[in-house]
Amino acid sequence: MSEIEKIERYISKRESGKFPLGTPYQMCMSEMQPLAHMNAVDAVCLAFDYGRAKGYRAAKAAERRRGGEADMSRFIDLTGQRFGRLTVVGRGENDQYGRARWNCKCDCGTAKIVAGYQLRGGYIQSCGCLQKERASEASKKHNVFRVYGDIVYVTMSNSDNEMIVDKDVWEWVKNYCWYESHGYATTNMLMDDGTIKHVRLHVYVFSDCPVGKVRDHINGNRLDNRRDNIRFVTTQQNNHNHGKSKMNTSGHAGVSWEADRKKWLARIKIDNKHINLGRFSNLQDAIAAREAAEVKYFGEYRRKK
Ligand SMILES: [Zn+2]
Repeated sequence: MSEIEKIERYISKRESGKFPLGTPYQMCMSEMQPLAHMNAVDAVCLAFDYGRAKGYRAAKAAERRRGGEADMSRFIDLTGQRFGRLTVVGRGENDQYGRARWNCKCDCGTAKIVAGYQLRGGYIQSCGCLQKERASEASKKHNVFRVYGDIVYVTMSNSDNEMIVDKDVWEWVKNYCWYESHGYATTNMLMDDGTIKHVRLHVYVFSDCPVGKVRDHINGNRLDNRRDNIRFVTTQQNNHNHGKSKMNTSGHAGVSWEADRKKWLARIKIDNKHINLGRFSNLQDAIAAREAAEVKYFGEYRRKK
């Protein structure tokens, strides 16, 4: 057997692709560990070195994969135990890393094979029927909403706050139950693989956001999801649109009271640096200075009043 043939034996899976900048890679999986994102030559060498160094463990893993009885004693027997809706019926085929898996039967009658660590860690508690039930329970709940012409006001399921959406968008998303999370209208969506994903309405609806840009609520109200209130900006532009900080003493972003000097200080933050716009005895003068600076530095991306 040639050297390369020996090496090849350690590679059980290959996948080729390209990095975002176009560099090709081959992802190889050795018998023992994934050798992600390296060129084919490196991966082959590594797989070889790794296999040679860990020859004993690789051989043992291969033995376990074949279902070798000798290794059974190394595992805690989970047969008969219950994990959520799953009852373990017996030992199953090991996974690709040689880890123990167990044949389980769900209360709903479906058979499922699950890795031991997933059972013991509580990561998997049913064949998938539990998530499906939870998701359909959640989607049975519907939001209270009012329609005014082309605009719909939708009360969040977990608060008294209302979001605003265009009527055609509401027709599209009203079968989901929307709740408020971090200020955004959010819903739980059941994915095809049975998992649940928390999805924000503006992300779901305005899916044409270009790479490198983020969706921005122009007037700063995260529940105002009307088309006219959403634009795509760079993160730098988005940072200019933040509200006043909690430390603010004037009620106006960038204007604060300096107790020792007994003056209003106006400032603006550009590229993470504060620019001092002056100190004023009169609050209105400080606000005016700040607004002039917003127009000068942020242009159309400044926070709309
Ligand atoms: Zn089930």
